[in-house]
Amino acid sequence: MINLPSSKIEAAKKQHISEMTETVKRQVTRFKRVFNVLKSCRPNQSPFINLDGNKQTIQYLSPKNSTITTNVQCIKQEYFDYADDFYRMLESIEKDLTDIISGDRSKLLELIDVHTYSFSGLDQSFIDDVLKKVFNYDAFIKEKKGYWAYKLSEKLGVSVCPYCNRSYTLTVITKKDTDTTSTNQNVNSVQIAEETTDYVIRPELDHYLPKSKYPMLALSFYNLIPSCSICNSLKGNKPDHNTMHHHPYFDKSEVKFKISGVCYNSEEDRTYLDNDVWGVTTDSNGCKYMVKSVEYFKLNDVYSEHKQVVQDMVDTAQEYNKTFVDSISDMFKKHSEELGSESIELDETEKERYLKRIFGIVDSSNEHNYPMSRFRRDIYESIKSIQNL
Ligand SMILES: [Zn+2]
Repeated sequence: MINLPSSKIEAAKKQHISEMTETVKRQVTRFKRVFNVLKSCRPNQSPFINLDGNKQTIQYLSPKNSTITTNVQCIKQEYFDYADDFYRMLESIEKDLTDIISGDRSKLLELIDVHTYSFSGLDQSFIDDVLKKVFNYDAFIKEKKGYWAYKLSEKLGVSVCPYCNRSYTLTVITKKDTDTTSTNQNVNSVQIAEETTDYVIRPELDHYLPKSKYPMLALSFYNLIPSCSICNSLKGNKPDHNTMHHHPYFDKSEVKFKISGVCYNSEEDRTYLDNDVWGVTTDSNGCKYMVKSVEYFKLNDVYSEHKQVVQDMVDTAQEYNKTFVDSISDMFKKHSEELGSESIELDETEKERYLKRIFGIVDSSNEHNYPMSRFRRDIYESIKSIQNL
């Protein structure tokens, strides 16, 4: 629901594309080598012996959880039968690799069209499995060496979940105590740096288009959105390329919150009623992406439970009402008259600034750094219109 500023995103993007393109390129090359060998082999034939030198690579094609083995029988028959198709698939991925890693949303949609693979008679899970190993997201989030998930989230520096604007999504990386560092003289400076670093917390990385449906996009920059665990799990793998939600890097559209129902006594008496007779509504402003965000992240249901925040603001509005603000303005005016100076009466802009301070409303350019900031701003606007502040 929040649009993130482009400055930090651009720097993070540059590093991600350069690092991940190289990483995936290496994987593609390794798998091409494997399928190239498999193309010319059949199970139970002697050429398998030649694969011993590629143990490391063969491991990737082994059934789940198997250990590194020289027994090539562990390679599923389907990989032999469709080795040509897999090889061609990898060649075509290699050609578009930079676009796959760096493409914006519309580019990714084009790529989905071009790179949808199905080999006649072969179960789709075999294809997805190879794609999953080439675009190895598990390694990206688990392997601490070099560039990995923490480096991306650190560079993005997204403090608050852009999907809900409720939970903090800070990245915290600290130094460990020196007495826990390695005493091994043979370790290099990179290893020492890793051993002395404590990766404390980072946001989850939501796949804008789910990696279970689009394994080829598992490491694409614009498909990795830092988010809180609640939003990530609420969304799950619901969207596909026809039912996409608000993208915090591209979409400027805003969700709008409002106090709904009759909330005060009468036109003359603007005293608020108890909050069990009024509610909060969420408006997607007709934006199809925002409609989906409200649906996937349950924004209406979740924010309706934040009535206490609204109640606190309503109480503030009762206390610091228009009469009060006008009297402050009047004080400035009188003081300037006494001094014989030019009038320093508060103008509308200054009054607005003053009210925002009282209600704790942050500047719109800073909303992405504060939880609940969008909600508070909208409720403030809602109160202002009800109470004519
Ligand atoms: Zn969230």
